[in-house]
Amino acid sequence: MNERILIIEDEEDLVKGLKINLVDEGYEVDYALDGKVGLKKALSEKPDLILLDIMLPGMNGLEVCKELRRENMDIPILMLTAKGEEIDKVIGLEMGADDYISKPFSIRELLARIKAHLRRENRSGETISGLVQLETIKIDFEHYKVIRKDVEIDLTSLEVDVLRFLIQQDGKVVTRDELLDKIWGYEKFPTTRTIDNHILKLRKKIEVDPNHPRHILTVYGGGYRFVR
Ligand code: CA
Repeated sequence: MNERILIIEDEEDLVKGLKINLVDEGYEVDYALDGKVGLKKALSEKPDLILLDIMLPGMNGLEVCKELRRENMDIPILMLTAKGEEIDKVIGLEMGADDYISKPFSIRELLARIKAHLRRENRSGETISGLVQLETIKIDFEHYKVIRKDVEIDLTSLEVDVLRFLIQQDGKVVTRDELLDKIWGYEKFPTTRTIDNHILKLRKKIEVDPNHPRHILTVYGGGYRFVR
């Protein structure tokens, strides 16, 4: 089946152009010119990826993004930002957007990003083992260690499980409930607060600056997201 993309954007000419190009690439495309309509369509149609403008009538793109994550939609969301919306990009990522592209963008660039996100989506589920090199640290899953600036820090087996699970989601938002379910199991009855505390500890071990995490990001209203 073809992958489905939903465009939520109020510039009709841009929507038309995007649609032609995306259909050409073999995607099924639907669109909404209004934030509220877009949100409804996203929830009912469950597309594989969403292109989301920020300034929209009805409901702005940031709100739409936040709502989608609150509803546990974990598909890739690419924000389309206009010039002067630099701050919105940051908020967008905090709201759970996966990526953003600034207008005017080249269609080739956009298609490349869409492909990369959809590929990543299909790939998640791979088992991670051995050594994983991230931007600022190395994680040694075999020996339960983090290597940060040549210093080795021990990880507990629980921390290894949490890290592995987060990394395997490949940038997708992981809710606290999911973590409870997948890592702790329900037999120990931990609370979501327990999870937040564990994440704090884990950040102290793996983040260069735990107060401004680079790898384990908090997603407002959603949970956590791991960025390599
Ligand atoms: Ca707009």
